[in-house]
Amino acid sequence: MTRHEALCLLAPDEPDPVLVHAPDAGSPFVITVDHAGRRIPRSLGTLGLSEAQIARHIGWDIGILAVSEAMQAEFACPLFAQIYSRLVIDCNRRPGTRTSIPEISESDVIAGNIGLSDGDRLKREATFLEPYQVAIGDCLDERARLGHNTYLLAMHSFTPHYKNEVRPMAAAVLWGPDDRLGRLVLEEMRRLCPSMEIAANQPYAVDMQNDYTVPVQAEARGLPYVEIEVRQDLISDPPGIAAWAKTLAIAIRNAVATFEEQSA
Ligand SMILES: [Zn+2]
Repeated sequence: MTRHEALCLLAPDEPDPVLVHAPDAGSPFVITVDHAGRRIPRSLGTLGLSEAQIARHIGWDIGILAVSEAMQAEFACPLFAQIYSRLVIDCNRRPGTRTSIPEISESDVIAGNIGLSDGDRLKREATFLEPYQVAIGDCLDERARLGHNTYLLAMHSFTPHYKNEVRPMAAAVLWGPDDRLGRLVLEEMRRLCPSMEIAANQPYAVDMQNDYTVPVQAEARGLPYVEIEVRQDLISDPPGIAAWAKTLAIAIRNAVATFEEQSA
């Protein structure tokens, strides 16, 4: 038995945690969707949650996989998505950080995450986080070896209401220390959506200590990237999904054209 088999929380008939499209495509874009799904492996029961709780934004990034897949089709680029709930383990957190396997999300207690042993945590890391982040890392390393240019697009969505807070922004563009592409995408989004609020690093910001995808996969490799957040009520039906995918694709293409002119 391999280490992975010994630690795996999934039965043979349960889907692989990593959904991959076109991993070898030569497009300059690579899309990641850390919170794409809301599955819970049978071995963890329901984590103590009702179906209504897991379907809420605390379980996953509602709508963003469909937007990302439409962008993937437009760009014909690699896409990596993790389809189990972020309440099983958050695949955008370094292992061992406080919010990696949350005991509380918004105001909901996640009973199945309380009192975990180191062994329980290791199984969740080995089953979900590792294969997902290793798949992304292997793709980025192979692209570097082949001399492909890469722009990482980290896709997320956010709830319009969080606790007592109403979030007016339609979307947000996020960046960490490397703001090169993020600022250009922000400018393009504001130009394309003049009647909407497009926020910068609000309501979330890149957390260089605790986040995984941007700090480890993009910043540490020196790859230009942008993290995008779209408000969930705007991408709750097919027309909204199609419209946002199209606008984001145009903004990103324009931003990259400017980026390449500036770096030439
Ligand atoms: Zn997310």
